[in-house]
Amino acid sequence: MTHIFPRHTRAHPPVAAQGDGAYIIDSSGKRYLDGSGGAAVSCLGHSDPEVIAAIKAQADQIAFAHTGFFTSEPAERLADRLIQHAPDGIDRVYFVSGGSEAVEAALKLARQYFLERGEPQRTRFIARRQSYHGNTLGALSTGGNAWRREPFAPLMIDTSHISPCYEYRGREEGETQEAYGQRVADELEAELQRVGPENVIAFVAEPVVGATAGAVPAVPGYFKRIREICDRHGILLILDEVMCGMGRTGTLFACEQDGIAPDIVTIAKGLGAGYQPVGAMLCTSTIYAAIENGSGFFQHGHTYIGHPMACAAADAVVEKLTDGGMTKRAAQMGAILETALNDTFGQHPNVGDIRGRGMFRGLELVADRDTKAPFDPELSVHKTLKAAAFEAGLICYPMGGTIDGRQGDHVLLAPPFILTENQVGELVDKLSKALNAAL
Ligand code: PLP
Repeated sequence: MTHIFPRHTRAHPPVAAQGDGAYIIDSSGKRYLDGSGGAAVSCLGHSDPEVIAAIKAQADQIAFAHTGFFTSEPAERLADRLIQHAPDGIDRVYFVSGGSEAVEAALKLARQYFLERGEPQRTRFIARRQSYHGNTLGALSTGGNAWRREPFAPLMIDTSHISPCYEYRGREEGETQEAYGQRVADELEAELQRVGPENVIAFVAEPVVGATAGAVPAVPGYFKRIREICDRHGILLILDEVMCGMGRTGTLFACEQDGIAPDIVTIAKGLGAGYQPVGAMLCTSTIYAAIENGSGFFQHGHTYIGHPMACAAADAVVEKLTDGGMTKRAAQMGAILETALNDTFGQHPNVGDIRGRGMFRGLELVADRDTKAPFDPELSVHKTLKAAAFEAGLICYPMGGTIDGRQGDHVLLAPPFILTENQVGELVDKLSKALNAAL
């Protein structure tokens, strides 16, 4: 008998008892290789001594002080460290407790920015159909996952959804990557013309799409075109790096690889690496100045913003990602993982696409590799795969996604950056066996 309200009310998960590097050990002693970092969270594994020491040291000093009264040393230090490595122009950090909160804060800051500038008619966001931005109502409004959105649709804020940049299914035969990227980016231009650019607050996108698509990066040039369209029409660009940020793709911020900088960027997951629940919304000095020189007050907040213990943990994490070389390691091990995936699944009849960057990889599962036909959704291949992998001692993140209104299956891999070459082998081997067992 439990009094926990689980998300899946009929599931009976084992008890996670111990962390050991890239492994989680349950109360029966079974070991699971964490091939997805939960949901792209545990970038440093489950027993990092420096992060644990930082949390203990901060607990001995002070655990919590409300930001209505105080700032704290770890919050100040972490903000400085993040800005030192942030995309061009990003200058201020607003701490929250997780990804949805970070996105919610970004949407509200963007709206308030235009209110401060005397443009109250701007009420609309534009986002992409293939995207997940969180489960709170604002974040859910911008997300494109129809199944998650449908029950709550009447409660949503105004958002238009345009096509994703999804090369595997979107690029036409004979079309260059560049032409494809421009074509889908130009949907933003068309939507702005349709709704009136003066009514739009921001375009919201994940640089590498995670949960709804399985690590889908944009083609080269796509985000440059998007940036140019946003600038031409004076709308903000919000990048959601909650899943793909913090070194996951081999650079601290994923957008570095697209050669652009956003006006607002959200991070979470890898920021606390699972040791503490923490997220952040970062913005440019221009946006901050509009608030500072205007009302002087961001009309948003939560009790736990800038929580000292969460910030102390995240500061230790970001130090390891930057000075400690862990982001570089994500790039190196990511290349090894990519090769291993291509070697093992490159010719697999039910693997249509292998994609991603760094330690953020996805496989798209198909019924027919030649026609790219997805599996019948009734089969729930992703669920069978998840169960088979878990049984074999591998945690991976298989999901059903929407492809032109039909259901598709993919598996997301986002292992800790500390993975060794042998553990990459173990991951791919277990995944291969689980996939064959599931099909
Ligand atoms: N944004 C992205 C890109 C995500 O992948 C997620 C979670 O998966 C979120 C936002 C929401 O984060 P959280 O679950 O911490 O609220």
